[in-house]
Amino acid sequence: MPELPEVETTVAGLRPVLEGQRLALVEPRRADLRRPIPVDLRQRMTGSVVTSLSRRAKYGLIETDRGDAMIFHLGMSGRWRIDPVELEKHDHLLLETVSGRRLVLNDPRRFGSLDIVPLSDLEKHPPFATMGPEPLGDDFTGAYLKAATRDRKAPIKQLLLDQKIVAGLGNIYVCEALHMAGIAPRQKGGAISKPRYERLVMAIKQVLTAAIAAGGSTLRDFARPDGELGYFAKDWLVYGREGQACHCGALVQRRIDSGRSTFYCSQCQK
Ligand SMILES: [Zn+2]
Repeated sequence: MPELPEVETTVAGLRPVLEGQRLALVEPRRADLRRPIPVDLRQRMTGSVVTSLSRRAKYGLIETDRGDAMIFHLGMSGRWRIDPVELEKHDHLLLETVSGRRLVLNDPRRFGSLDIVPLSDLEKHPPFATMGPEPLGDDFTGAYLKAATRDRKAPIKQLLLDQKIVAGLGNIYVCEALHMAGIAPRQKGGAISKPRYERLVMAIKQVLTAAIAAGGSTLRDFARPDGELGYFAKDWLVYGREGQACHCGALVQRRIDSGRSTFYCSQCQK
């Protein structure tokens, strides 16, 4: 499942193909993904020039000179294919630039989404309207997180997955960052001290930055015709390592909390 670093890597991979380019063709190849694809997406995007690409939480934004942003979400299985030789069954959106590049959004499970929103309305758009700060942004600090979780009795892991507190953090990165910071996933949010929150924020930024760097090197491998963007493997410290040794010698444990696996080390994390 693509997480924030994969989306960041995807946007970085699309940028050299799309930025500054006029779109000759924008063709949705079905009516819906997780929800309907806007009926005016084709008309609003076709003929426009892509002015910039960016990421917000786990959404990619493709902005045009008409003042619109096409917003994509990769869901569980979405990925972009660059200059595909031929189209496949699950290619649900086709883009062609005037310069002759082709991109397709492929999503077999169709949990992804496509929207088009005027840039002026972006902050009011539902996924963004109530979102907390970006985890890699300067306003995501230990002091912020301490204030945002004040008096909260919920476990810190659950609070970090709440998009209103911080945007775009997924299960893998939360498990890894809590381990790196030495904080038990079940610790009550309101009970964690400010220095520990400072350590946690540093760990979150570090684990995301390392994954984005790893994605960047994967991207270079895929920077070829018919390349695919979106996924890369990484060696985790606790995630997916139940029963294996932590660096402290104890065994990594797994617990299921509200349907999600939590991986942690009860010796390192208090
Ligand atoms: Zn340990």
